[in-house]
Amino acid sequence: MISLSSKSTLHASPADQTAIDFLPFAFEHRQGLCLDQQYDHIQQFKRGIINQLDILRLVLEAASVILLWENLLEEHFVCYACSSEIEVLSGPFPKGAGILGGLKNRDELVLPLYKLNSPSIPYYRDSARVRSFYASKIKSFDYQSNPLPALLCIDFAQETQFNSSRRELLARCCAQIYAAYDQTSNYLYVNYERQTLQQVFNSLQTLNGSLDSESVFAAVEKAISFIVKADLVMIGSIVGGRLRLDYVSLEELGDHVKQHFPLEDSVTGQVVKYKRPMPDSARLPQGAQLINGLYSLPECGSQAVFPLFQDEGPVTGVLIIATFEPNPLLRSRRELLEMVCTQLVIKLDLAAAHDKINRISMQDSLTGVANRRAFERGLQAMHERMLRSGTSYSLILCDIDHFKQVNDSYGHPFGDQVIIQVAQQLNNVVRAVDLAARVGGEEFAILLEGTGRKGAYEVAERLRENVEKLRLLFEQKPVKVTISIGIATFSEDTQDRNRLFGRADQALYQAKNQGRNCSVAWTPELETS
Ligand code: GH3
Ligand code: MG
Ligand code: MG
Repeated sequence: MISLSSKSTLHASPADQTAIDFLPFAFEHRQGLCLDQQYDHIQQFKRGIINQLDILRLVLEAASVILLWENLLEEHFVCYACSSEIEVLSGPFPKGAGILGGLKNRDELVLPLYKLNSPSIPYYRDSARVRSFYASKIKSFDYQSNPLPALLCIDFAQETQFNSSRRELLARCCAQIYAAYDQTSNYLYVNYERQTLQQVFNSLQTLNGSLDSESVFAAVEKAISFIVKADLVMIGSIVGGRLRLDYVSLEELGDHVKQHFPLEDSVTGQVVKYKRPMPDSARLPQGAQLINGLYSLPECGSQAVFPLFQDEGPVTGVLIIATFEPNPLLRSRRELLEMVCTQLVIKLDLAAAHDKINRISMQDSLTGVANRRAFERGLQAMHERMLRSGTSYSLILCDIDHFKQVNDSYGHPFGDQVIIQVAQQLNNVVRAVDLAARVGGEEFAILLEGTGRKGAYEVAERLRENVEKLRLLFEQKPVKVTISIGIATFSEDTQDRNRLFGRADQALYQAKNQGRNCSVAWTPELETS
């Protein structure tokens, strides 16, 4: 009975072990197989090889059976797996080192008599005890494919004849290793493709669930990242015959969002014109521009521009993907990326509608300023931002004085015009970072970011004076309108934003009490009065 001794298998030094384990698959022409995630399968392949080497050694009564694998980048061999009773060096061994040089121009080397003056065997410190030596390239049994960059080496401590049945056994053994390698590398590839497709599928589902443009952009970028390592993703729309960038993944190019670029003299323009992805090689032709006028684009090794269109419709946008290093995947993964585009164009359409509805639902339909809902959200966001940054903000509440009388005297439609005019005055005093809102029938609010008590009072007074100065006419007769204002400023004791709102309301009540058409900033005395 053949017994396999466990001590028979020597390994390379542990530090190099993982790199050596990966070696047979690391130079796969299909890049990016994510080998790390498939290490179990790679180890399983190796266990199978070691098993085979063990059996071969025992059947042949050999001293060592070794599989060397070539590191194609470094042009040297390492000991990938071995079955031996004596110490075997792990390498690296230069490609033509010692006896390996004999395989330069042939596939097989048979030395029934290994002499003392024969070239040395690189994986031994001392080859003196070797009597016979055999080495073969690993090739398929039918010789149809190129050999693997690997060598099966066998040596014997006794003189050994290589008759035809032995030679056939060895040839079959090499073919077996070849087949196992082929099977594993195909398995890794299929498994990787399956994982990728699963991830693409998952991210397309996320894309399906995204409603607004921002989340559509984020989901698309995620889906792309499963397909290809992209350093830059841009999404643009074709507006009035020009390209408008709607999304740019690189922060340093963020300024270009919402900018328009001519389509002429650019690869993007060609893509829109011919309705197909370009450039074909994923490399920009000499002197060609990706986007006409986008000069701050970093140097890219590969790029691909995809047209976005629905069915037979025109191109409505583009998806641009670029990598800093040259990346042939950008070409080979085109079909998957086109699948993402098909989904993207539908989602962008829906997202635009969603964004519009969102905008409308946050807007007061009479005046166009933010509505109560938007105000609540704005207050919450500003409050949280200020709590984090430790800066201040102020809240202004204003109410049109004796508005019932306005309605009663001039009618509701005129009252509406007054409300519109007052809202306009609010818009005139706020900055981009502030928020003006209509929070009730004839009540308004302003959130002033980073503004203290004094600053807020000045804004309030300016607003009040502007309203007072309004020249409103009803049937050619002037109508006077005034507002009363209450102001509260965020402080240590208004961690609760409702409390801040309550204080602004108290100040407004005070302003009404003081005879209207004035601004009152909240003070602690108001609490007790
Ligand atoms: P005060 O100075 O105390 O604020 O007196 P006021 O008359 O303004 O009193 P109040 O704030 O209670 O009255 C608000 C009035 O605003 C009542 C309502 O008829 C009117 N109003 C509310 N919404 C609208 C609107 O959309 N259009 C018009 N024209 N009037 C509105
Ligand atoms: Mg009111
Ligand atoms: Mg009023």
